[in-house]
Amino acid sequence: MKLAFLGESPADEVALHVLAEAILKRRVDRVLPHLRARGWPNVAQVLPPIIHHLHFNTDAVGLIVAVDADDSVVHTVEHEAPGYHHPQCRLCQLRAIFRRATKNLPPARGRSRVLRGIGLAVPAMEAWYLCGRDESVGEAAWLAGQECGRPPYTRAELKTRVYGTSRPSLQLEIDCALRELRRHRGDLRRLEADFPGGFGALARDLKTWR
Ligand SMILES: [Zn+2]
Repeated sequence: MKLAFLGESPADEVALHVLAEAILKRRVDRVLPHLRARGWPNVAQVLPPIIHHLHFNTDAVGLIVAVDADDSVVHTVEHEAPGYHHPQCRLCQLRAIFRRATKNLPPARGRSRVLRGIGLAVPAMEAWYLCGRDESVGEAAWLAGQECGRPPYTRAELKTRVYGTSRPSLQLEIDCALRELRRHRGDLRRLEADFPGGFGALARDLKTWR
């Protein structure tokens, strides 16, 4: 299966590739988009031209996108109500961009559209990497912290827990991400349970592709 990945950094995209193969339970060949993104809101800006490019110029079946939530609104089950869209939720925003970008495209390369897989890492990809290793990390803890105005951890703390430094090199980021994801041995139920909004949404998108 040929898929493209769009994240805030090349390390995030390597992690998304591994996660996609685990969710889809099949080998995934990577199609490189013609543009790269650096952080939010750049991902949202390059998404429409990337969708357009993949649709017309490649045989990618789907595009997987994930961004960090940082301090923005966490995607929750309430956002999944039909027709609902939270304007401050990055996952809801990316879904709206995807919808607009694919709406009027004519069929190309034997498919009507590029499939959509969108995730939101709360508050950052490093939280996903710590899943199953650090019991204090999860969407519930983050949401409780947002409610009382005291986050349970900072992004820099999460980076230090994963990489041993808050300023890792790209190679260290990739090595540590792969090491942590290997712990799950292809079984992502724990990630879906601890990150039901942002990771759960991505997993649900991909399960409809199987
Ligand atoms: Zn949302």
